[in-house]
Amino acid sequence: MMAAKEQSPSPELRRAQNGGFRLEMSPNGWLVGRFAALEEIGVPHLVTTRQGPDVERVRHDTDAAGRQIAQFLGLHDAAFLEQVHGGDVLTCDGPGRVGRADGLVTAGRSLALLGKSADCPIVLIADRRGRAAGFAHASWRATVAGITSAVVRRMIECGCIAADLVACICPSAGPECYEVDQEVRMAAVERLGLRAGAFFHPGPNGKDRFDLWAANRDALARAGVPSLSVHTAGVCTLCRNDVFPSHRREGQSAGRFAAVIGMLPSR
Ligand SMILES: [Zn+2]
Repeated sequence: MMAAKEQSPSPELRRAQNGGFRLEMSPNGWLVGRFAALEEIGVPHLVTTRQGPDVERVRHDTDAAGRQIAQFLGLHDAAFLEQVHGGDVLTCDGPGRVGRADGLVTAGRSLALLGKSADCPIVLIADRRGRAAGFAHASWRATVAGITSAVVRRMIECGCIAADLVACICPSAGPECYEVDQEVRMAAVERLGLRAGAFFHPGPNGKDRFDLWAANRDALARAGVPSLSVHTAGVCTLCRNDVFPSHRREGQSAGRFAAVIGMLPSR
């Protein structure tokens, strides 16, 4: 008799879950993350790693890193935020530092929207019909403040419909590793309601682990984005600190990687 095979998801199911996320080497020597789900609809995007734009430059000289990344993607220029761990969303139609917020949306072509992270989930959101693009910097505070659904609402104000949106949750601190204090769970339940309890799981040392991926999938579903259009890279930055900067692993001195999305000029 054949040995019982371990249950692993079929390639189709895996593809639906992670959106075909993989790391690949580019001709210029950058190791970048990409989602097939965004490539298939012609959306320029990438997740940078330690092998690419310098992680210190991404953090401290974001303008310069943004221009480098925009050029790499075939876009004209880059816009970014001073990320403050809240629920506010800004809209932009030009490059540079847009303001203090954690969500950014554009209806403009050729602009790369750049989110910075060392452990926080960046959620890239595209419109199949190319009416807008956006991202959410979904740190625990911003997630609890509803940042991801706020970005979806802003994209709908820009003329999108939720059914046309495709959302990809980039590498970040994973549910097996992201330990938090009791106050985080309390804040989540206070702001998101009792259902937020389902996003917390006790770890072996008794501390809760916050599943930010599940919390953001829930936010997207409640904002009307079809579950089949929501993908989670499923890569943990604490486990893959060899590839990605991690604040939990490196502390205050950690660099940043970038998660970037835009719209090509001629669609
Ligand atoms: Zn991990």
